[in-house]
Amino acid sequence: ASETQRRPNWLRVKLPVGKEYANVRGLVDTHKLHTICESGNCPNMGECWGAGTATFMILGNICTRSCSFCAVATGRPHAVDLDEPNRVANSIKLMNVKHAVITSVDRDDLKDGGSIIWAETIKAIRRESPQTTMETLIPDFRGIWENLYRVCEESPEVISHNIETVKRLTRQVRIQAKYERSLEALKRISEFGLRTKSGIMLGLGETEADVIETMQDVADAGVHILTLGQYLQPTKNHHPVLDWIHPDQFAKYKEIGLDMGFRYVESGPLVRSSYHAEKHLFDQIR
Ligand code: SF4
Ligand code: SF4
Repeated sequence: ASETQRRPNWLRVKLPVGKEYANVRGLVDTHKLHTICESGNCPNMGECWGAGTATFMILGNICTRSCSFCAVATGRPHAVDLDEPNRVANSIKLMNVKHAVITSVDRDDLKDGGSIIWAETIKAIRRESPQTTMETLIPDFRGIWENLYRVCEESPEVISHNIETVKRLTRQVRIQAKYERSLEALKRISEFGLRTKSGIMLGLGETEADVIETMQDVADAGVHILTLGQYLQPTKNHHPVLDWIHPDQFAKYKEIGLDMGFRYVESGPLVRSSYHAEKHLFDQIR
C-alpha cells in the first residue's frame, strides 16, 4: 500500500471545494503566483483556501536546495522577477487577507539571497493593504546576516525560520542547511526585537529526547511561537515517513513547550508552519 493509503484516520482531510476555494484558485492562476500550499502538496488546502487564505511563495518555484522532505523542485532558478512583489501585494489586497503568510524558495545563487525581493514584497503589501499583518517565513541566507537584517528592517509582525527537524537528523534531512546556523538566524531575529516563530516536522525517525532537545534549543534562541506537525512524504523519492505520531504525543509536546516558555505552541498531526498562522499572532498579542 502507498504511504497515503496507510495514513492513520486522524490525517484524513476534506477535499477542496467551494466558492472561496475557487476564488483563491483564480487569483493564484491569474497573477501567476506560486503557493507553498500547492508546491508542498499541503493536506490543508481544502480548509485554508476554503477560508480564503493561502501561503504565497516568492522568488520563483525552483529552489537551489534539495531538502529530503520537500516537494519544491530543485535546480537552477529563473531570473528574479521584479514585478513579483506587486503581484503578490495585489492578490493579497484582492483576497482581502487579514494576515498574510509569505515564504520563499532558497536562492543561494543570488548575492543578496533574495532579500531585496523579500523587502520589496513586504513594502508592497504595506502599501496596498496597510491593515494586513504579515508573517514572513524566511531562509537562513547562508548566514550572510546583512541579508537577514534587510528583511528584519521591514518589521513584519512575525518572522519565522523553520528548524524543520531535530539536531541529530539535520545533516541527513536538510543537506545544505546547518542546525547551528538556523538557531543563530532565530536568535538574531529575536534579538532584533521581532516576534519569532519556528517549526519542527515529526515522523522522520526522531526520538522524544531528540524533540525535547531541539525544542529547548529553539526556546533558548528566544523563539516565541513553535509549531509541531506530522511529516508526510510528498513522493516515494522523498524521505520516508518513519513514524505516525499519535495526537496524544503532540498534546504532550505542547505542554512541554509551554513549560519551556514558548508563548504559543501549535502541535498536531496536520499542523504546518502556516496553519492557523493568524491565530498564533493574535493569541500572542492578547
Ligand atoms: Fe497553505 Fe499553510 Fe494552509 Fe497548507 S497549512 S494549505 S501551506 S496556508
Ligand atoms: Fe524546500 Fe526550503 Fe529546502 Fe528549498 S530550502 S528544498 S524550499 S525546504
